[in-house]
Formats: sequence, structure tokens, C-alpha cells
Amino acid sequence: MLTKNKDLLKIKEQALEKNIPIIMDDTLEVVDKILTEIKPKRILEIGTAVGYSAICFSEYLESDGKIDTIERDKERIIEAKTNIEKMGLSDKINIYEGDAVEILPTLNEKYDVVFIDAAKGKYPFFLKEALRMIKPSGIILADNILYKGYVMSDYNKHKQRTAVRNLREYVKEVTENPNIDTEILEVGDGLAVSKILSK
Ligand code: SAH
Ligand code: MG
Repeated sequence: MLTKNKDLLKIKEQALEKNIPIIMDDTLEVVDKILTEIKPKRILEIGTAVGYSAICFSEYLESDGKIDTIERDKERIIEAKTNIEKMGLSDKINIYEGDAVEILPTLNEKYDVVFIDAAKGKYPFFLKEALRMIKPSGIILADNILYKGYVMSDYNKHKQRTAVRNLREYVKEVTENPNIDTEILEVGDGLAVSKILSK
């Protein structure tokens, strides 16, 4: 298993030391199970950070599968590229450099899985773009969906207000849409698992 790989453990440790919010272990366990079942050919990730989650997910790709991942922070892009190269995954993981709000509308691929893990205030927009590109029967995952418990509480104050409002809007959309089957899991900081029902 890749998670026991020494180089990957080092990437994880270094990210945690720098307080980079990489996917939590229990969330990763759930995603691993989903990916094992789907065996995806194409994954889209929004929010690369230093490449940790993309590297973890790559293990579950079909043999000719690929991951596209989007990141806007220049320093993190450089680190992600170094990490991906070190793991020998440069031909499997492609980084789109820039703001996902600008990049997503330019993409026209079809994906088996979309992993949303970037600016919380943009989750409804990311969902709209994910729905445009997800394959029938595909899965859209949204990390940090419970945001420290704020999303499901009556918390309405402070500077995280916009993020919380948008996360709530995301949850409302995926739970009320009859073409989507959603589970909100209390792993890590919350994970929304939305299966697209093929019509
Ligand atoms: N998926 C990573 C962690 C991502 S952390 C992992 O689990 O290993 C979230 C990242 O999203 C940060 O690096 C941040 O710079 C990036 N981000 C936030 N908003 C973004 C946007 N609008 N466009 C591109 N990247 C964004
Ligand atoms: Mg996250």
C-alpha cells in the first residue's frame, strides 16, 4: 500500500509540520474504499496543496488513468511538482496552475470522481462545475463539508460566515437534488459523498 511508502510518509509529515490542511487519515480511508470500488479512469481534484491526496488517490486509478488537480498557490505548486516527481507519478498527475474559478469553466473532460477540497466559499460553484463534468454514476466528494461543526449548528458569526453559508448551500443542493444520492459522513472535517444517479 502506498500509504506505507517512506517517501509518501515524509511528504505527509512535512505538510503537517507546515500546517498544510492535507486529507485526514479517516477521510482518506473512506475515499480509498470508494476508489477501490470505482477503479476510476479520470479524477478531478480541486485543491492540490502539496500533492498528498492526489498521490494517495493515484494508487486506485485504472492502469491508463489520470488525475487532473488544480492549485493557485505558487509555492505549493512547486512543492507538489517536486513531490509528484519524487513518487514517479508525473505522467499520472497533471497540475492546472491557477484559480479553479477561472480554470474549471475551461475544462471539458468527463470525470469518474471529483474531489472538492479548496476555498469553502466557492463550494456551490465547484459543485455546478463538477456536475457539468461528472460521468453518469460518478461520485462527487466534498472535504471539510462540516467545517468544525459550524455547518450543522446555528453558528452564524465571525469571519467564517460566508464559508459556512456556502457549505450549507452545497449540502442543501446535494441532498435536495433528486438525481444525486448523498451521504454526509462525520470523518475528518466532514465528507460529503454524492453519487450521481444515472437517469
Ligand atoms: N487536497 C489536498 C489539500 C488541499 S488544501 C490534500 O488533501 O493533500 C486546499 C488547497 O486549495 C490550498 O492549497 C489552497 O491554496 C487551494 N485553493 C483554495 N482555493 C482555491 C482556488 N479557488 N483555486 C485553486 N486552488 C485553491
Ligand atoms: Mg480538506
